Amino acid sequence: MYKNLIKNVVIVGGTHGNEFTGVYLAKYWLKNPNMVQRRGFNTNIIFANQKAFKEVRRYIDRDLNRSCSLSILSKNADSHEAKLAHHLNTLIGPKDNHQENADFVVDLHTTTSNMGISLVISNQNELTWLAASYLSEEFPDLKIYRWQGDEEGAFVDSLGADGFAIEVGAIPQGVLRSDIYKQTEEIVYKLLDFLENPSDTNRTVNVYDHVTLVDFPRDNDGEIIAMIHPQRQDNDFKLIQSGDPMFLSFEGQIIVYEGSESLYGLFINEAAYYEKGFAMCLARKIEYSF
Ligand SMILES: [Zn+2]
Repeated sequence: MYKNLIKNVVIVGGTHGNEFTGVYLAKYWLKNPNMVQRRGFNTNIIFANQKAFKEVRRYIDRDLNRSCSLSILSKNADSHEAKLAHHLNTLIGPKDNHQENADFVVDLHTTTSNMGISLVISNQNELTWLAASYLSEEFPDLKIYRWQGDEEGAFVDSLGADGFAIEVGAIPQGVLRSDIYKQTEEIVYKLLDFLENPSDTNRTVNVYDHVTLVDFPRDNDGEIIAMIHPQRQDNDFKLIQSGDPMFLSFEGQIIVYEGSESLYGLFINEAAYYEKGFAMCLARKIEYSF
């Protein structure tokens, strides 16, 4: 049904300069473009934030994956990443004009959280969800997180018509691991297979639907006063019930979950989120139909 409608697919690596899996996959595919070429569409590789990669930093001035909003794109670029966002918008977008250059964007990320292989999806478009459903059938361990997080519509993948981010972890920042590299590579090849021959898939998928962001406990000066509790650490996508340990203070005091609804913890102890002021995300597991 989408077979002749997909003309341009964009794979982005290095949106975050210290997430090396996507950087090195982008470098590899730029040298070996035949690996990602398929019949019927062009595949373009973008190594997004090369300056941040050189400095082994997530970003130089501001988070590029929170910089692709219409409000930033409509203003003069006043930072390195705003300039990159404008440039990416000329390659991938223009955002939200229904004539985007990229019919599908996949943005490659890693996480220090034990997220396994997961997709982060922030649109409701049919092709995006058909692709996600296909991948969840191909990879039984793959999890789907429907993000409605800290800033709306500012992800790099939101510049194109359809797409999502791939998050694989746990892996430290600034590190390559061959297992995570291969897993990410394999998902991208399966995605390209699907886009080459889009088939109707199961239209109901298990989704972790974003509910809220949880910050670390802090004192009046804003200083963190507790760490992720050992029972939460590395237990992403596990159910958290009222009374379950969440944090452990430096004095050894346990801080428990007091919410009335049992929810799932995601992005638990992600290194990049300390500065954003959250310790984990909480999500509700739902059957999502599209
Ligand atoms: Zn990232």
